[in-house]
Amino acid sequence: MENVYGLLGFPVEHSLSPLMHNDAFVRLGIPARYHLFSVHPKQVSEAIAGVRALGIAGVNVTIPHKMAVIPFLDDIDDHARRIGAVNTIVNDNGRLVGYNTDGPGYVKALEEEMDVSLDGKRILLIGAGGGARGIYFSLLSTAAKRIDMTNRTVEKAEQLVREGGDGRSAYFSLAEAEARLDEYDIMINTTSVGMHPRVEAQPLSLERLQPGTIVSDIIYNPLETKWLKEAKARGARVQNGVGMLVYQGALAFEKWTGQWPDVNRMKQLVIEALRR
Ligand code: NAP
Repeated sequence: MENVYGLLGFPVEHSLSPLMHNDAFVRLGIPARYHLFSVHPKQVSEAIAGVRALGIAGVNVTIPHKMAVIPFLDDIDDHARRIGAVNTIVNDNGRLVGYNTDGPGYVKALEEEMDVSLDGKRILLIGAGGGARGIYFSLLSTAAKRIDMTNRTVEKAEQLVREGGDGRSAYFSLAEAEARLDEYDIMINTTSVGMHPRVEAQPLSLERLQPGTIVSDIIYNPLETKWLKEAKARGARVQNGVGMLVYQGALAFEKWTGQWPDVNRMKQLVIEALRR
């Protein structure tokens, strides 16, 4: 019998996840299909009951349900518990277990795409929203030397650093961070600044950027933000948000099937779809 997987969110229509997962199922000869499930915020508990009752093998969870699903699961892993958000549910013979692959997916994409070890690196994270949270806690599990944070609302960066409870992090205002840019090996934009349609905006001035720094932006629409273009022109090595999107999906796929999909093919499909 074909296994059913899917995405719970509201809205879900524009998701690229079916494209990645259904292609990987076919290529690996796995009899399964990934569907989109538009779930109204008032019906999250019914949706999770539906996953159980229908024997749906696994789901991804997206905005706005990543926190709301937690009370209805049987267990969640330590990382998902720490960040308080689930993006992947595995149905293990009726036992629903929640995970979060967003941050781990980002870190794996960073290491693999940029061919870099994070050991001893000094990292600046820009932004303190939902995306930053998963990435920050995943970075804390690496051997990076510093993982500093900056955000427009500096109190949110402060709060996250406090929660991290790790002596490797400090928080700064955007202006302070701009003045210290030359102290970092890697900087990561997790804000929505520069995302379509406001493509002219930039999260942080790159005046003090050192050539050779890795500059990463989790935005994938546009594929290259104005900030990344400028970083490239200043001699940085740049990465866009497609890697995070693909690797969070690949890690979910692996949890469901035990198999690692062809991430390069997933990336190619996503980029083609985004270009259309
Ligand atoms: P979020 O929780 O709403 O957080 C938004 C962040 O952006 C906050 O730090 C916010 O600062 C900052 N921000 C927003 N407008 C700003 C402005 N005009 N000036 C300065 N800072 C501003 O959003 P999110 O879920 O983290 O998503 C952020 C971005 O990441 C989006 O573009 C999203 O598409 C992208 N994303 C990509 C992936 C991927 O797979 N590649 C995954 C998740 C998210 P304040 O705290 O001061 O408001």
